[in-house]
Amino acid sequence: MTENLFIAGERRASIDGATFTVINPATGRELAEVSQAGTSDLELALSAATKAFSGAWPRTSATTRGRVLYAVASGIRARAEEFALLESNNTGKPIGDAHWEVEAAASTFEYFAGAANKHLGEVIPVTEPGLNVVLREPIGVCALIVPWNFPLLITSWKVAPALAAGNPVIIKPASLTPLTALLLGEVLVDAGVPAEAVSVIPGPGRSLGDALVGDPRVSKISFTGETATGAHILQRSAPNISRVSLELGGKSASIVFADSDWQRSADETLMAVFGNAGQDCCARSRILIESKIYDDYVNRFAEATRSIKVGDPLDESTEMGPLTSERQRAITLEYLDSGLAAGAEQLSVRSDSSTPDVNGFYLDPIVLANVDNSMTVAQEEVFGPLACLIPFKDEADAIEIANDSPYGLSGSIWTENLGRSMRVARGIRTGVLSVNTNKSVRTETPFGGYKQSGLGRELGMQALNHYTEVKNVFFSSE
Ligand code: NAD
Repeated sequence: MTENLFIAGERRASIDGATFTVINPATGRELAEVSQAGTSDLELALSAATKAFSGAWPRTSATTRGRVLYAVASGIRARAEEFALLESNNTGKPIGDAHWEVEAAASTFEYFAGAANKHLGEVIPVTEPGLNVVLREPIGVCALIVPWNFPLLITSWKVAPALAAGNPVIIKPASLTPLTALLLGEVLVDAGVPAEAVSVIPGPGRSLGDALVGDPRVSKISFTGETATGAHILQRSAPNISRVSLELGGKSASIVFADSDWQRSADETLMAVFGNAGQDCCARSRILIESKIYDDYVNRFAEATRSIKVGDPLDESTEMGPLTSERQRAITLEYLDSGLAAGAEQLSVRSDSSTPDVNGFYLDPIVLANVDNSMTVAQEEVFGPLACLIPFKDEADAIEIANDSPYGLSGSIWTENLGRSMRVARGIRTGVLSVNTNKSVRTETPFGGYKQSGLGRELGMQALNHYTEVKNVFFSSE
């Protein structure tokens, strides 16, 4: 059976009949056949969205839009099993993680449901007699382009604020993982979002995505993916002066000082690197360790890595499933070779689990010790289960190494010294930092990167700013 496109509230085959195959990474076999949107399908989605923008949704009160979004959250929860199973089968992520992400997606809709009528304008005192107000208005058709690592969750981060602010949305999921976005389309319209305001169009980024971001009817682009793709989208959309926000790559550092509870850091940082099989923009893929505890930390980290259960994603006890694609596994192994050639040392961390299916894209966690930050493996985003353990001398050295990266997305600082945590937090150029924990994402707070990790922020009230235009109106009382 073919999974059809979702255009203006309707499931339909692509006009030219094209389809593509989606693979289950745990088996390497076909999971679904999916309709592939082409330019005619894109045209349908764009005309519907443009019509929706001159229709009821942007003029619906923010309170009513919020109520619809609460219904979306309930709709996701009502189909949580279906969402989680689809996501796990399509990405290879453990089913427990998929359940968590489905609930987080529902919570994201709930947050923006409540936020819709609390996104305030301003009244600004000026010298002329009258009333000077600043309004926040819907921005227009939003093109939301999503990667394959957290397909439903990242889609919800974009769709929820876009709809809360009164905009129609066109969602372009990643070709590897389009299934949960298609299901979300149904849930949105069932919950009361006008049909014309929602389309989900799977298809190739290089042709379909490119046409979408270059179209002058698109007012706002929100993209998550690779830095190079983000740079291309900026150029492609420049002639239209479209509003663009970008969530891009990362090479985040976890900095561990000798004065910290470093044993806890080693145990907890494990899944901050190997969670989602390392395919996480916030992965703490560089672990910077103060020299005096380096050997002890490395031993503990390697030992803990041996306990990670790699296995069948549908087994509730699995902690790490296969990578999402054969290609991503090959890329990770290339980075391993490059690290070894540059002089890094691979520690033996074979997991205690056996690969459940030889055709799946499984890989054991990789730990590289004695990494120098200048090595390619420490500079570039691997996006696979590979940890670089890097020694540092002192506080200044730690800050310098952490900042020696083209990226600046997230990171952690482990220390019991309050003053040091403040100095280091201020010294590091990243968008999100946590002290004595590894969590980076909270629905209520802005998330995004410095430097080549992005432009703009998702989540929190700041996300709503990116889906609205600012209008200043002065009412003269003379
Ligand atoms: P990608 O850039 O290859 O693709 C992302 C999306 O863009 C896909 O839907 C793809 O089809 C589409 N696309 C590709 N070329 C396009 C074009 N020319 N025009 C329009 N759309 C196009 O990225 P990916 O491999 O799917 O995702 C992995 C990357 O995403 C990693 O670099 C990771 O760090 C990043 N990421 C960042 C965050 C964050 O919040 N900062 C979160 C998750 C993933």
